Amino acid sequence: MTQKINVQKTQNPKPKPDEKNLGFGRYFTDHMFIMDYDPEKGWHDPRIVPYGPLTLEPSTMVFHYGQAIFEGLKAYKSADGRIFLFRPDMNMKRINLSNDRMSIPPIDDKFAVEATKALVSIDRDWIPSEPGTSLYIRPFIISTDPFLGVRPSYTYKFIIILSPSGAYYPSGINPVKIMVENEYVRAVRGGTGFAKTAANYAASLKAQEIAAEQGYVQVLWLDGIERKYIEEVGSMNVFFKIGDEIVTPSLDGSILPGITRDSSIQLLKKWGYKVIERKISVQELYDAHAKGKLAEAFGTGTAAVISPIGELNWDGKIITVNDGKIGEVSARLYDAITGIQDGTVKDEFGWITVVE
Ligand SMILES: *Cc1c(COP(=O)(O)O)cnc(C)c1O
Repeated sequence: MTQKINVQKTQNPKPKPDEKNLGFGRYFTDHMFIMDYDPEKGWHDPRIVPYGPLTLEPSTMVFHYGQAIFEGLKAYKSADGRIFLFRPDMNMKRINLSNDRMSIPPIDDKFAVEATKALVSIDRDWIPSEPGTSLYIRPFIISTDPFLGVRPSYTYKFIIILSPSGAYYPSGINPVKIMVENEYVRAVRGGTGFAKTAANYAASLKAQEIAAEQGYVQVLWLDGIERKYIEEVGSMNVFFKIGDEIVTPSLDGSILPGITRDSSIQLLKKWGYKVIERKISVQELYDAHAKGKLAEAFGTGTAAVISPIGELNWDGKIITVNDGKIGEVSARLYDAITGIQDGTVKDEFGWITVVE
């Protein structure tokens, strides 16, 4: 059942930030989408209202027990001025995967896409048009019962906010240095690793902080049981080109099923590459490097699209991948995906949703 979205426009539109200096996640548009849940009415009262603070009691459950999920996607302005979303249906379906794990009631994923389109349409003047820029879309759900007992909340808010964001690579793609994380783990099987939940991020900060102190941009997470098998890189999925195969860790429950990961696999297969989803140990990676077979390593995620890895440090053993330069496969994927997103490459997979 599609519900009608009530729209209350702002009386005080904000000045727009400088498009050349947006950075990430610092500016928010004039409006936001909100919808409430309670057990009697289900998800109800969808509305677009002026962006502004929420009023929540200090006892609100999300502050204490972290029952919260989120998504991240982008709206792009095409060369001819149209507005595109990239696979928004996948993000909204993934909300329900995350909701289920976090005991949050499911949303109507198709309606959530419509709500996103409506919000982006109202704030369309906020979509930057400089090359590489986009309007970042952050849907999220929080538990809102004012209650301190431990149980799933009875009430929730589903909110969507928008943030104009700068180019991820303002001066060209530079491969990053990555620290293999031996002490801390991001997720374990049976845990919440496959869900896009706030708690996973809270648990990952410490390792990122330590790696950053040593000059590393991200950490490469290993499995939580044996600390042998590769899981993800920072908040991105990870791929390796070993010989003529492209290997990525299989989704065994502790890895986030990335939409950029899925898009990359589909493109690579279409181009005739042999893509294998399986367990891969960090030792295997180092052995492949020793034999001269590790040709490329890269992360995939909405923010960067493709992030090539130029160096890995595992317990002080440092290897350089592809001379620290961006590889052929990484570059081809980056060009194809960003090209589909801004309308300069034909959308053969039907990944684009147009915002009217
Ligand atoms: C969001 C996220 C990704 C990337 O997913 P995309 O859908 O490609 O943006 C990968 N890993 C983690 C932990 C994430 O939270």
